[in-house]
Amino acid sequence: MHEIYQVRPNIYQIQEAKGVYFAIVAGSKQALVLDTGYGIADNRKFVDEFLKVPYIVINSHGHIDHTMGNNQFEEFYIHPADVELYQRSNAFERRKNAYLNLAEENKLDTAKAEEYAAILSPEAKTVEDGTSFDLGGLSVEVVHLPGHTKGALGLLVKEERLLLAGDCFNPDMWMFADNHDTLEVLEGTFTKALALPFDTYLGGHTTVEVPREFLATARENVRRREVDWNSYEKIVGRDTYVIRYGASSITISAEDALAAGKKKAQETGAGINTRLIHGDSDRRKTNPVGALLPPIYQVSAFAHENAESIADVFGGRKLGFNYTRVSNPTVAAFESRMNELEGGLATIAYSSGMAALSAVLLGLLKSDDEFIASSGLYVGTVNLFDGFKQYGIKMVYVYEDTKEAFRAAITEKTRLIFAETICNPRVSVADISSLAELAHEAGIPLVIDNTMASGYLARPGKLGADIIINSTSKYVNGSGDAISGTVTDSGHFDWLGSKLADVLEGTKNAGPMAFIAHMRKNMLINGGACLSPQNAYLNCVGLETLGLRLDKECSNALALARHLALLPGITVNYPGLASSPYYELASRQLNHKYGAIFTIRLGSKERAFEFMNKLNYAYIMSNIGDLRTMVVHPASTMALHSSPEERAAAGVYDDLVRVSVGIEDIEDLIVDFASTIENLEA
Ligand SMILES: *Cc1c(COP(=O)(O)O)cnc(C)c1O
Repeated sequence: MHEIYQVRPNIYQIQEAKGVYFAIVAGSKQALVLDTGYGIADNRKFVDEFLKVPYIVINSHGHIDHTMGNNQFEEFYIHPADVELYQRSNAFERRKNAYLNLAEENKLDTAKAEEYAAILSPEAKTVEDGTSFDLGGLSVEVVHLPGHTKGALGLLVKEERLLLAGDCFNPDMWMFADNHDTLEVLEGTFTKALALPFDTYLGGHTTVEVPREFLATARENVRRREVDWNSYEKIVGRDTYVIRYGASSITISAEDALAAGKKKAQETGAGINTRLIHGDSDRRKTNPVGALLPPIYQVSAFAHENAESIADVFGGRKLGFNYTRVSNPTVAAFESRMNELEGGLATIAYSSGMAALSAVLLGLLKSDDEFIASSGLYVGTVNLFDGFKQYGIKMVYVYEDTKEAFRAAITEKTRLIFAETICNPRVSVADISSLAELAHEAGIPLVIDNTMASGYLARPGKLGADIIINSTSKYVNGSGDAISGTVTDSGHFDWLGSKLADVLEGTKNAGPMAFIAHMRKNMLINGGACLSPQNAYLNCVGLETLGLRLDKECSNALALARHLALLPGITVNYPGLASSPYYELASRQLNHKYGAIFTIRLGSKERAFEFMNKLNYAYIMSNIGDLRTMVVHPASTMALHSSPEERAAAGVYDDLVRVSVGIEDIEDLIVDFASTIENLEA
């Protein structure tokens, strides 16, 4: 019995032999199974030297051409299905040319490439499903996996104790392959895989255990389709970087990594996490004495040197501060950071998310006006909208998620469309681009409450929304230590050219800033719901780790939801599960994440309560977006006073528990949630 087997999905490049790539698929300390990549056949001596242990090569159609034509290996296995696929794939000419170019670039044997036309009657041994062979004392069995069509390995090598798989584990390959079926097979078959770092083959002895979550993470990475350039990891003593793809990685030279990183930076600007820390401009220059965070100007008012100065600030001739309800430097720093996050024209902060919501709605609507909203909104918002009846404002809920349903609700009197990026507890996802299109056809703005996603997961402004509201009490703050809200104007909407210009009379001199000026002058200064400097400061601190927290919270939510979804007697609703009707939309719209909130239906209210009471690692509270995991029973709390219709629209059921997933270690959450569910007495 061998102690350790390699399943780490690495592609290796040998530095001395540039252009040589291969993946270690499986192996023991005695031997390795490789999937071949570019150039390996021509550089056998490097491979031999590099690996130091005997190895065999297995292959798939994707790489046939790189090895078979000039195959120098005694042991070479290929699955017949792969050969057949390759013959049908028509890709040969293309691949031949690609290889010729590559060979030329890397000074490999180009003459050999010409012989490739003959390779389709392979001399290599073919292996059928179930074939087993001995690899340096390790008994391996070959299983053909479905679903790989382009370049990913079609062999699964199985040993009694654990899974050994090819680079179908490698998200980089998945980017080009329809390998999700393969993944299903893997997930269905194995519960645990062992991986060990490459160093083992160079004399090290570390082992790393890969939990099931690994598979989910890898799948998620496939969808992301981009390298996370922020997370290079320097390997000490070697001139290489590891680019992390979740649990997987690729080793490339420092030089290449840098060049690629630079190219990416030029194409897209700095990454969002970089911007959360550094901002669009150098923050050291904007804060006195180089303070890294904005100082807390905990004052109600500001003194001026002379009468002229205060008169100039009041008259708008000079920038400055008079009174904290109007503006305050700490609050302004938070507003500017939120504006960077959402990519807007300007942002105004309020004392709470509800204050931000009422500022926008009351600021744009008059009596006898109508507006359209998606159903299933945050309960506080529904209550706010209910109160509008008193002012003669009519709200029309749309119960279907289709564009047609929204279109049908638009009348002459409609002034705006309102939706939430993700509604909870229904955990539905709004199709922002399509709603924006519809709103703009009707000449009205689209207002999006982005609280559940924040600008980190979705930038509604980029998708066409005109006003973005955040309850920054949630993910932006992150630690649950301050209530606040923001309103951002994305800058797309022609306010003064629209029918909404009638409420912007008083601020029309501000031109394109008319709406934002209205939000400050009439809705903040007159409305009075200003943010305290202390809370603005706490939110600035929170913003810096927003990406870090949300990445972890979303991957935790995905892993936990996927795990719980397998348990009998409950149902899990989460946009990250393929069973959710919002799965595709969420994948497209939410930066390839799915938010950190899901719901569980446990069968009865009693079971729901027992479940909540028995959890170790979840706080029972009605908040969301905090870094700790929280559960609540919406039917007996937030939705207590909702009508049966409102409950149905919001997806509130008597047996439903909402989970806001935190940053705890995922293993702890899985064990806690799963064992609590398995041991319910009710
Ligand atoms: C919490 C929340 C609000 C209200 O924000 P507060 O900061 O609590 O006033 C509005 N919308 C959504 C989606 C929320 O989750």
